Amino acid sequence: MKVLKFGGSSVANAENIEKVIEIIRDASAADDCVVVLSAMQGTTDVLIEAGRTAERGDDGFFERLGDIAKRHTTAINTLFKDGQNTAVEDFVDSYVKELESITEGVRRVRELSPKTLDRLLSFGEIMSSKILSARLKADGLDNEWKDTRLLIRTDSNHGFAAVDFAETNARIKELIANSSRLHIVPGFIASDSGGYTTTLGRGGSDYTAAIFAAALDADILEIWTDVSGMMTADPRFVRNVRQIPRINYREAMELSHFGAKVIYPPTIQPVMAKSIPVLIKNTFAPADEGTLIEAESPDSGDMVRGITSIDKISVLSLEGSGMVGIPGFSKRLFDALSRAEINVILITQSSSEHSICVAIDENSANLAKKVVDREFEYEINISKIDPLKVESGFSILALV
Ligand code: ADP
Ligand code: ASP
Ligand code: MG
Repeated sequence: MKVLKFGGSSVANAENIEKVIEIIRDASAADDCVVVLSAMQGTTDVLIEAGRTAERGDDGFFERLGDIAKRHTTAINTLFKDGQNTAVEDFVDSYVKELESITEGVRRVRELSPKTLDRLLSFGEIMSSKILSARLKADGLDNEWKDTRLLIRTDSNHGFAAVDFAETNARIKELIANSSRLHIVPGFIASDSGGYTTTLGRGGSDYTAAIFAAALDADILEIWTDVSGMMTADPRFVRNVRQIPRINYREAMELSHFGAKVIYPPTIQPVMAKSIPVLIKNTFAPADEGTLIEAESPDSGDMVRGITSIDKISVLSLEGSGMVGIPGFSKRLFDALSRAEINVILITQSSSEHSICVAIDENSANLAKKVVDREFEYEINISKIDPLKVESGFSILALV
């Protein structure tokens, strides 16, 4: 059993989808496969924009949804011969109509809840995967499309839902066992116990693929993207990057956590727990060897495996003489951040215990200031500690 995931650029247009089909054809001739798909490149961003536009009461969302419709029908017209495409066009039409009516609802109530946004976003992955499934069928490649919302169960934290693995693994095993040898599924989306659509975080289709690979004890997870594997640095910023042929789970996790976008950070954990190797491959250069992520990787002989960075970081500093030698300050700081659901990316503490610094996403900086100052209101009033210092516009640079 193999799990293959194709990202947004791999399914960006008909020409790219043809390349994906060739890869699936080869893989499925040799193995049972589950294929996980992202939305066509840019679709998720445009759906978010459409939702936000409607929330402002602006009917410009129609134009944005029109762009999405056009992009999909253009691909369909190239991918299917005349006469074959009617059914596919019909379901894309019906999805676009549904999208329009949900977004019109958003415009009327002038509110885009995280729950409704997840519902809107789900259409991207649903459409791309249904189109691919139909095209494979038209080519005589028998396959079954499954709705991941019926397979992956999460909590109700819309936009960044946490997976209930016991329930999810059981459903995936049951549904995939004894049926078709080739399954096509949408990535990124899941549902909560009330049946409401949830999403797994931006870039989350990688994670969907890892969840399937782990549940099915797959032999390998292949992540097909637009670069020939993990590089020693971000190729968008660094010219003389080198491709990393082999890397271990921990190093790969560290690189992705600190910004190597090529793999979504939570992806590694489920496959690492089952020692399932991950191969990162290039859809546009399938002969390139790619990067193998595995339990033990040979020493590359280099001191540094890779360099990554993340931008838009705020640094919070909690300082004050009142903190020295007194237990419990850090616990209260982290509790306050955690109650506000603020994710801490990096922690440092000075040797004198005079200050604790934590790095967080810039978007959460205002909230962090509010909750931490409230937590330490008493100590701040009696000048034992200073109000939280917040500095923004930072980057974290990580050497692995
Ligand atoms: P997909 O749509 O296939 O999921 P992504 O855009 O999410 O693809 O990830 C692939 C991109 O990640 C590459 O095009 C590259 O620009 C970027 N990237 C950032 N850091 C790295 C790195 N260290 N190695 C490889 N690619 C990286
Ligand atoms: N389409 C989603 C996103 O753009 C998920 C993914 O592509 O992995 O974030
Ligand atoms: Mg990605």
